[in-house]
Amino acid sequence: MDYKEKESVAIIGAGPAGCMCAYYASKNADVTLFDASNPLHTLLYTGGGRCNLAYGEYDFKELAKFYPRGEKFLYSVFSKFSTADTLNFFDEIGVETYPQEDLRIFPTSNSAKDVREKFLNSLKKCKFIKEKVLDVCLLDSFLDCRVGNKFPPRNDMELESFTQSVIARRHPSGAEEAIQNEKVLNIAHYPSLAEGSKSLISGESKNAKFQIKTNNNVYYFDKVVIATGGHAGFSLAKNLGHTIIEPKPALTGLISAENFKNLQGVSLKDIEARIFYPDKNFAPSCDLRGDLLFTHEGISGPLAYKISSICARLDYNKQNPLVIKLNLICHANNDEILKRVQDDVRVERFDFQGMLNANPKKDIKNLIAEFVPKSLAEYVLEINNLDANEKCTNINGQMRDLILKSLSEFNITVISPAKEGEIITSGGVCLDEIDSKTMQSKLVNGLYFCGEVIDVDGFCGGFNLQNCWSTGFIAGVNQ
Ligand SMILES: Cc1cc2nc3c(=O)[nH]c(=O)nc-3n(C[C@H](O)[C@H](O)[C@H](O)COP(=O)(O)OP(=O)(O)OC[C@H]3O[C@@H](n4cnc5c(N)ncnc54)[C@H](O)[C@@H]3O)c2cc1C
Repeated sequence: MDYKEKESVAIIGAGPAGCMCAYYASKNADVTLFDASNPLHTLLYTGGGRCNLAYGEYDFKELAKFYPRGEKFLYSVFSKFSTADTLNFFDEIGVETYPQEDLRIFPTSNSAKDVREKFLNSLKKCKFIKEKVLDVCLLDSFLDCRVGNKFPPRNDMELESFTQSVIARRHPSGAEEAIQNEKVLNIAHYPSLAEGSKSLISGESKNAKFQIKTNNNVYYFDKVVIATGGHAGFSLAKNLGHTIIEPKPALTGLISAENFKNLQGVSLKDIEARIFYPDKNFAPSCDLRGDLLFTHEGISGPLAYKISSICARLDYNKQNPLVIKLNLICHANNDEILKRVQDDVRVERFDFQGMLNANPKKDIKNLIAEFVPKSLAEYVLEINNLDANEKCTNINGQMRDLILKSLSEFNITVISPAKEGEIITSGGVCLDEIDSKTMQSKLVNGLYFCGEVIDVDGFCGGFNLQNCWSTGFIAGVNQ
């Protein structure tokens, strides 16, 4: 195809999703990437600088299960581009990969910087513009836009009515009801019709359908892909008529009502957790195991991230907290110490009395410290008003049961997600308004979305980048 005949595509956001889209779109189209910052800068922080770029699950339906939001939508997406395709893509651009034992996949170089460099090298055909995009306007309001059956406007009255409905769409509080009664097939966002008609004539491309305003310039494109990640580009999508599912932090630390200051820095390996929240049943099959870290304000680490992700859409707070129960002795179930299993509490109860009997002269804190870090052993005794230096022989049945309960159902009252350090945003452009086969908007022709800007979020483990690769690929090949 002759260069001039190619359609012009603007990709807003040169993050992992935008760049993936650019790679495939540039095979057919003339691609320009806009980024307010440096392209692929967000990739540098991933996987602690090592870039956990995928997860070794090759069945697309199984892979989709790792996404608390978007599972069904991703069936179609992953059926077109899944883990194996991701690895092939990276191979194609010169990035070798390897899976860890836990199935997380990393570049062999263990360097996000290396991935970034090779990825950017593969985008030589694309043009990069370092500017913040402030607005995206649809130019062909008169040609494409049909609000009810009043279009194209035939007289001044219809023109005025169109202007009002566009304004109302931008500022829904004004005339939301009026719009809901009309069938909206396409949405125009245009500041003024007079300005609109001028731009149609003076645009760089006669076919351009979109006008992009940045902090420095105005540009014209045939198609636009919004790949602005979490939060940043929501207003662009909203101004074009899209619904934004309220963003909430996911994959974040959690703030507890309990004061864990003395436990700050204590980490626990591969422990079990159960979540409780009023009127909500969490599936017992939900594999809630992982590493956890106590912080100055609560908990963090992979297990806390997973819980924050599962509960991202719940409105928990001081009055209505989330309760997490940790089984701190889930590892203490080998044959020597396991005496009986109590089904009712789902905890393998170990023979604590036997251990007390066998160590009569030992301080109780030192006995408990055989199972959990010492500061946690002291904390468990403190919350039960027991003397940490009490000899085991003096621990009676009531004391023993209090200690056991705290060890097997260690209570954490979560009142809020951590204020900072969110890894991913839950929420974004409503999936009902996006065609998963093309990633094209169902409201605006020629407008596409990919990556974190859409209402999809996954657990830790390479899933969020996989969403970027897969949705970026689909948006790209459809240009
Ligand atoms: C610390 C950290 C570690 C992570 N580690 C992993 C990991 O190991 N594995 C994993 O799968 N996921 C990880 N993630 C999540 C992953 O980084 C994101 O899911 C991914 O970056 C989202 O990509 P994106 O392209 O959709 O958006 P982003 O990466 O956010 O990129 C969007 C781009 O758009 C630009 N932009 C935004 N608005 C505008 C505008 N108006 N005009 C112009 N440019 C604009 C931004 O500058 C940015 O470059 C991690 C996240 C964090 C914060």
